[in-house]
Amino acid sequence: MHYLGVDVGSVSVKFALIDEKKNVVDTLYMRNHGVIPTVKKGLADFQAQLSNGAKVSGVGVTGSGAGFSKVLIGADVHKTEILAHAIGTLHFVPKVSVIFEIGGEDSKVIFLRDGIITGFEMNRICSGGAGAFLDSLAGRLDIPISEVGRLALHRENEVNIASRCTVFATTDAIHKLNTGYKLEDVLMGVCNGLVRNYLAMLYRKVSPPPYTFQGATSKNVALKHALEQQLGAEVIVPPHAPCLGAIGAAILALENPPQQTQFKGFELAKFDYHISSFVCPDCENHCEITQIMQSGEPIASNGSRCGKLNF
Ligand code: SF4
Repeated sequence: MHYLGVDVGSVSVKFALIDEKKNVVDTLYMRNHGVIPTVKKGLADFQAQLSNGAKVSGVGVTGSGAGFSKVLIGADVHKTEILAHAIGTLHFVPKVSVIFEIGGEDSKVIFLRDGIITGFEMNRICSGGAGAFLDSLAGRLDIPISEVGRLALHRENEVNIASRCTVFATTDAIHKLNTGYKLEDVLMGVCNGLVRNYLAMLYRKVSPPPYTFQGATSKNVALKHALEQQLGAEVIVPPHAPCLGAIGAAILALENPPQQTQFKGFELAKFDYHISSFVCPDCENHCEITQIMQSGEPIASNGSRCGKLNF
């Protein structure tokens, strides 16, 4: 028996398959190019990379796009990102005290004691502490994002980058390069600034280690270094760090097994799905209602403030 977890974020979609002993069979990380095409392609690619045909007995979804994805995929369990990330991390680091996650457009800090979530901070409004900024800066500098961390660790001089706002940070980084600073020094300055801003926004309540660092940005060795320097402690990057939310969702599906899974199968590409939207004319809120259509019929609807059109 296998359990599938899917974490649908604003920048990426993560898939994880576990067996009945919670061993991770495989994971997949994809850029989000729209929830329907990405989930369809992701499931097809994921099936192709699984060496043996896997019988899925339950599916868990999480993430900011989980509401629609639950209907799309036929998921059995829908849990918050905080819970899914905590469960996924506890699987590998049972004594974790603080989880640091710097995502693409949102970031979080989760506090735990004895395996129980005691609090969290989350940032969805300002991307000053998020990885999308680093991504766009790398694109502007024509550097592969995978190279940023390695290059930054070769810095020779301290460079302070104005990091409170990503717009100013980008301008400041370009300005520093134009005034002769080395690329490596500027990249480390950017990583230090991003971590400084992230901690200032979300980590006001200091808690003792063990600490973990996850999300796609955890592959950036300079960000990990900056986090360790500023926290003054070691930070563990658990296995499958970019996909721990999906692993947590799969574990939650395993621990809350459905009698019969609603999973529509890996061959989701065969289904005719598209998005439709309209503005509700029934009151001055003029809510924009978004619907998933299948064969001309809405199968999920979202965006209604009063709730009457959500299903
Ligand atoms: S969905 Fe409800 S709140 Fe939104 S415009 Fe229609 S009646 Fe008003």
